[in-house]
Amino acid sequence: MDLLIKGGILYDPAAGWEGPAEILIRDKKIEAVSPSLGPVEAPVLEMKDKLIFPGLVDTHVHLREPGGENKETVATGCAAAVAGGFTAVACMANTSPPVDGKETVAFIKERARRADLARVYPIGALTLGLQGKELAPLWEMAQEGARGFSDDGRPVMNSGLMLKAMQFALVLDLPIISHCEDLNLAGDGVVHAGSHGYRLGLPVLPSVSESVMVAREILLQEAVGGKLHLAHLSCSQSVALLKWAREKGATALTAEVTPHHLLLTEEAVGDFDSAAKMNPPLRNSADRETLQQALREGVIEIIATDHAPHHPCEKEGDFLNAPFGVVGLETAFPLLWTKFVVPGTLSPAALVNCMSCAPARLLGIPGGTLVPGSPADLMAVDPQLQIEVDARRFYSRGKSTPFAGWRLEGFPVMTMVDGDIKMWEGKVKGFSPDFPGREELLCRNN
Ligand SMILES: [Zn+2]
Ligand SMILES: [Zn+2]
Repeated sequence: MDLLIKGGILYDPAAGWEGPAEILIRDKKIEAVSPSLGPVEAPVLEMKDKLIFPGLVDTHVHLREPGGENKETVATGCAAAVAGGFTAVACMANTSPPVDGKETVAFIKERARRADLARVYPIGALTLGLQGKELAPLWEMAQEGARGFSDDGRPVMNSGLMLKAMQFALVLDLPIISHCEDLNLAGDGVVHAGSHGYRLGLPVLPSVSESVMVAREILLQEAVGGKLHLAHLSCSQSVALLKWAREKGATALTAEVTPHHLLLTEEAVGDFDSAAKMNPPLRNSADRETLQQALREGVIEIIATDHAPHHPCEKEGDFLNAPFGVVGLETAFPLLWTKFVVPGTLSPAALVNCMSCAPARLLGIPGGTLVPGSPADLMAVDPQLQIEVDARRFYSRGKSTPFAGWRLEGFPVMTMVDGDIKMWEGKVKGFSPDFPGREELLCRNN
């Protein structure tokens, strides 16, 4: 179905575009982009004064299905994704059973097809059962559509096994996504090893439990080659190691940072608030400043949410026993827009590069740009809109966020996948009874 999007201002850094644009969509693809396309025979979607971006891509989410449907399903996770402007997400393998074979990859893809909202790219487990003992069938999962491999949450402690995994991933030309954490150093820690955590008397997670594994992964990649992606970096030492590797000429080495590590410190834990309990933990203000600077300098080029929903009952328990993880899909873009783009420390193009172009490139998937021929995956933001974060309104089944009550700008108001509108003014197709019909949204061109 043809469609002409008019009146918006497009930011598409991959195409070098920044300015007013009319976008013609034909057969689910971008057909043409121009300041003025002239007379075109197509229904019009009026997006006057809205900012239009390539759809966001998240390299790191947890959709919990199969096995954790009380926390999230592929469908509710995808609803949260399109509500937050994401058109594609890569989901981690720590489900139950884990994604360690082609059947689970196929199952998740089928669930995503039925949900018909965001694109979902499963990440396969590195090891069978996430046990860190035997390699999972990486080739088989790649054939079925896995776009990378990770034992996220359960780091591979055996260096020999990780080296072998890198050799396989190199042949498959897919990234290894490493949750860098030395379990022996991490122990039973639950908060950063800093003044706040010590004051609370909680077991701590030192920064070195992350950075020592960052160093290992970098050295292994140097020995083997292939694509290495460092998940959710949280501390200054990790960034220093990343810079060191780059200076030595490392290529195909990427890293991500989450909105919560960019914006919060250990102080957010306050008086045992489990909405600020995640792994890696929130660290100190120097770490936060280093991460922000690494983002501005392009040392870290990907922002990922690590959307990790849990059932509200689980997060409401005592801090020590509450599971790690917070939701992120529905707040990521407005948070970074409000805190970085509005004050002028990051340009809109730089933000969309970190949240769309670079993630799409890492996963080797279509999207991340609206150049003609690309899939019509895009989102629009109303720069005038201000909303207070209210977790009760999330589409995600997880409601635990450290940003509840924050007043933010830059909320997506429209998300389109394959030329089909999936979210309109906060309403999600298939989820909101008052989701508008196509006829209500489109007007005839004249
Ligand atoms: Zn992780
Ligand atoms: Zn994760």
